[in-house]
Amino acid sequence: MLVVQLKPDDEIRPHIAGKKIFILECLGCQDVYSPIDEINKFIDNLKEEVLGRVRLDYICNRDFVSAYVKGYSEKIQEADLVLVFSCGVGTQVVSSVIEHKAVYTCCDTLYLNGFQGLSVQQYDCYQCGECYMNYTAGVCPLTNCSKGLINGPCGGAQKGKCEVNPEADCAWVVIYNRLEKLKMLDRLDKVLAPRNYSKLLSQSLSREKIER
Ligand code: SF4
Ligand code: SF4
Repeated sequence: MLVVQLKPDDEIRPHIAGKKIFILECLGCQDVYSPIDEINKFIDNLKEEVLGRVRLDYICNRDFVSAYVKGYSEKIQEADLVLVFSCGVGTQVVSSVIEHKAVYTCCDTLYLNGFQGLSVQQYDCYQCGECYMNYTAGVCPLTNCSKGLINGPCGGAQKGKCEVNPEADCAWVVIYNRLEKLKMLDRLDKVLAPRNYSKLLSQSLSREKIER
């Protein structure tokens, strides 16, 4: 099962105001708890120019995403940014495919245990309920940083590799490089509040609501 919720307005609108937008929505996993009506209302009320809105099954599948991105390459190129409505895994896949463009997630992921999509997952999501990736260039700081740091590196990286796991790239080096490439280093100016564990699924959504 997959449970996501739309991000609060004030976490999305400041990022997209006045921009040209391309939208990708995931329709995979029909048994998901996905706030489809809220998403439709949000998109219908956008004042920004929407250059394209594509719904695809299993946005976590890199091959699907790559094919769609190729098919809509002109529109995506024209857009200032790409908005993604999916779980955290889906947004990470889109960010990895559309490397030259800002990719924003519009959803917070609360639960995806058992969810596999259609392909072996290269990315993971800890279902933190307050997705940070709009500040980290579409790279999840919780699953990619060995210490799960959300406000910058620990300082222990060696030659771009993690001090805990030298086999892995330091997530914060990856985040910094991607933000720099996108000319979005100002994202690092914001100090994120400590994680709010009350946003985890057990605290934030009742079982009754999930099963509805
Ligand atoms: S920050 Fe990471 S763990 Fe949290 S919702 Fe986003 S992808 Fe998932
Ligand atoms: S070296 Fe980088 S990835 Fe490793 S714990 Fe420190 S900040 Fe996180």
